Amino acid sequence: MNQSLRVLMAGYEVAPFYKRGGLGDVMGALPKALRDINIDAKVVMPHYNNLTMQNEAQKVGEFSIEFDNSIHQVSVYESFFGLQHVPIYFLSNKLYLSYDNVRGKNKRIEQFVFFDLAVAYFILFLQREKKWRLDIIHCNDWHTALIPLIIGHMNLSVASLLTIHNLKYQGKGSIRILDLLHVKDEETKILKPGIAANELNVLGEGILHATRVSTVSKTYAKEITDRKIHDEIYGFISRRAQEGLPNGDGKISGILNGIDYDVWNPSSDTQIEAQYSASNWQEGKAKCKKALLQDLQMPDRPTFCFIGRMAKQKGLDILIRSLPSLVPLNINIILLGMGEPSIEAAAKRAEEKYKDSVRAIIDYNEDLAHKIYAGSDFILIPSHYEPCGLIQMIAMKYGTIPLASQTGGLADSILNGKDGLLYQANSKRAFAKSIKKALGIYGDIKRYHHIVERAMKKDFSWRKSARAYKALYLEILESQIKSEEVSK
Ligand code: ADP
Repeated sequence: MNQSLRVLMAGYEVAPFYKRGGLGDVMGALPKALRDINIDAKVVMPHYNNLTMQNEAQKVGEFSIEFDNSIHQVSVYESFFGLQHVPIYFLSNKLYLSYDNVRGKNKRIEQFVFFDLAVAYFILFLQREKKWRLDIIHCNDWHTALIPLIIGHMNLSVASLLTIHNLKYQGKGSIRILDLLHVKDEETKILKPGIAANELNVLGEGILHATRVSTVSKTYAKEITDRKIHDEIYGFISRRAQEGLPNGDGKISGILNGIDYDVWNPSSDTQIEAQYSASNWQEGKAKCKKALLQDLQMPDRPTFCFIGRMAKQKGLDILIRSLPSLVPLNINIILLGMGEPSIEAAAKRAEEKYKDSVRAIIDYNEDLAHKIYAGSDFILIPSHYEPCGLIQMIAMKYGTIPLASQTGGLADSILNGKDGLLYQANSKRAFAKSIKKALGIYGDIKRYHHIVERAMKKDFSWRKSARAYKALYLEILESQIKSEEVSK
């Protein structure tokens, strides 16, 4: 791969080594798809002490960095994943990078500012030790959003792409964090110039310092540019747009995620009761449903599921408030997730109240997730907003029809009435109405089969998205060259 584009992807989670949500799926799948189209992609993440398969990683070197007025050692561990043999590097430091659940707002930000600084030095390590000079550092979410500022501070001539997977999480903390890095205030682009700022918005800095910014669907890109979905960050987005960067670089591009069919494929999935594909799904899916309902002690009737983080964003409030009108419809509702204690408690209360119809499993359980995707008839996705969403794509592959709110990536991946159902976001009435519509479809065998088959055959492979990223990387390199020429 000597002549190809060299990209280093940085993020806080990478499946299958460590996964807590959709970003983990993306970080584990996109580099494989990039290598399939001849992009030399490597990955870097922190070396938490609870990584899976960590025994397979070999120590390949170390370097030191100055942080908080002390010198810290960072060890580099290397491993490979997928048929494509993607190199992944884990940066290890006992004090800052061992724990995945650091508590305290500033502590967690400190952890990732440390990681971002370590990644900048790791770029030099790759040049020195591996003779690998990268073209683009691809940062993902706030955890890695300070890298563009840091590499600018270090005068590394490296272009950057920041992909926003969720704008809500921004990494807001004390401005004092900059002292740990020896970065001066004036190197930041904190909003409110002239006013003493006391808060650093890490994602905001990334939005303003990265060579390009993207997000994970076209509709979400439009939603976050047009409206103040999250007030605090809107200023950074509009400032980027207004700065009139060359080549339209101020705009936020939208590239839909794909799913990894090596992991999510009912015809090869050994975690489910029976394997099936679009040509023989009826028998296989029926077996999966029977096994799931037996496990959960639920009767055989139309089965709706919810799988996801129990965070406000995911709209469980709408689902739970709709239960009084849903339960009489004689359906099963299975909820799998964990997250905010108040939402977990509300789900448990719903199970208690509607014992015959609702099961709430408060857990992070990938094995059970596979069984629920395969064994349900419909998946409910009442998100208030959804940058991309992977669960609808996974469910469709398993012949489970999504019923989702019309927002972000859900709107971009589901064709209403053709391979799923969309309803007006945030409307409890529209949500309940679409469940009734779903039951109507379920009762009309011919139409139901047609929708299931269309959904199963829909192509959400990463191939298409990888090509779109390649085009974006090339645009970034071009604008980097232009801006270097201007500053000469
Ligand atoms: P987000 O990134 O906002 O969490 P996505 O829909 O993009 O949401 O991705 C969620 C991913 O995490 C999917 O792969 C889903 O199967 C998985 N997931 C979410 N919650 C759980 C859970 N409780 N147990 C197992 N897998 C889960």
